[in-house]
Amino acid sequence: MEAKIKAFMDEVKTRNGHEPEFIQAVQEVAETVIPYIASNGIYKGKSILLRMVEPERLISFRVAWVDDKGKIHVNRGYRIQMNSAIGPYKGGLRFHPSVNASILKFLAFEQVFKNSLTTLPMGGGKGGSDFDPKGKSDDEVMRFCHAFMLELNRHIGPNTDVPAGDIGVGAREIGFLFGMYKKIRNEFTGVLTGKGLSWGGSKIRPEATGYGTVYFAQNMLKTKNNDVSGKTVVISGSGNVAQYAAEKVLQLGGKVVTMSDSSGFIHDKDGIDEDKLAFIMDLKNNKRGRIFEYVDTYSSATFHKGEKPWGVKCDIAFPCATQNELDLEHAKQLMKNGCICVVEGANMPSTADAIHAFHKAKILFAPGKASNAGGVATSGLEMSQNSLRISWTREEVDERLKGIMSDIHDSCIEFGKEDDGYCNYVKGANIAGFVKVADAMLAQGI
Ligand code: GLU
Repeated sequence: MEAKIKAFMDEVKTRNGHEPEFIQAVQEVAETVIPYIASNGIYKGKSILLRMVEPERLISFRVAWVDDKGKIHVNRGYRIQMNSAIGPYKGGLRFHPSVNASILKFLAFEQVFKNSLTTLPMGGGKGGSDFDPKGKSDDEVMRFCHAFMLELNRHIGPNTDVPAGDIGVGAREIGFLFGMYKKIRNEFTGVLTGKGLSWGGSKIRPEATGYGTVYFAQNMLKTKNNDVSGKTVVISGSGNVAQYAAEKVLQLGGKVVTMSDSSGFIHDKDGIDEDKLAFIMDLKNNKRGRIFEYVDTYSSATFHKGEKPWGVKCDIAFPCATQNELDLEHAKQLMKNGCICVVEGANMPSTADAIHAFHKAKILFAPGKASNAGGVATSGLEMSQNSLRISWTREEVDERLKGIMSDIHDSCIEFGKEDDGYCNYVKGANIAGFVKVADAMLAQGI
């Protein structure tokens, strides 16, 4: 089996040698899915995984825009249409200086499995730009978004490809993008998700990724007759996912002691309560401030410049910032301090070594493609509401979200439970996600 996986990965590396994040994401899937294919006659000899690692379409384009001083800037825009076997391409847009083809291909690849897991009919895609919204005025962001959509519009549509937000793309950017799409196409459709409530958005969509991640953690802990209540929780990040993960942990009676951004992390030994969380939300969402400003207001907290929060003692860790933010050393620190459960809110925040260490120690570990799927699942619910031209209540959407997270958890258990009873959620998510897409690809032919 090792030889089979190596031969497959050698081919992937030859084709994508300069794309380390993409290779990392494929390796993780190959290690679990190739043995499954080998033991399952219907997928054998069909090169399905080889077809799945090649994007159906990879679009790259120039985005030229003018700043407030009249200077012209040129950025690169992308949309990766990875797989449409089970539905229109679906996935976020990321605006961040680190964005390149490797990062978007890893995200698009993970999105295919994630979307399949949600039980909703959505294919996988991802896009974005190396544009950095940090330090830009609202007008500059608007001009960039308009220029971006001027090109992107010809590649997307409510039944073709439905983008949404990701890092650097929130409600403000979705508004500007939607405004330009509507102007060009003269149509008011659900071409984007994460829209404002008064113009086609879904209730709970802003909260969904963070809430869903904590719902998933609850399902995991339940298998050990445990729950979030009374637990000390370490969270990284302070953006949309981290904020609503923290909110849900507080609602369930947990104590959140850290949050972070690229400047470092804050550790509040008294816990970040509702008022303090409201301060962080205002700081990050409205004032576009930095997390260290928290310690000027709350003396119970310390700021740790340039560091990650994984050395802080906790029961549960939610990495909610970005890829590869939690490595083997961090994993060892967490486990040494008694952490029993790691649930990814971000996409691929743990390195392969860190994941292997969690598995070896048999602690609860959930990969983002399962645990953070609540965001895109609620995007799927937004698409349904748009098609039906109705709007569900907060309670209705939240109930559906809870049900979907529980179903994803069940799928992980079905395909990931090992002989000794330990659930390998990585294996479970990969195989469950694969089966649905592979069956559709088989049915549709080559
Ligand atoms: N960017 C989110 C993710 O990583 C959400 C995508 C969406 O709603 O389409 O799943």
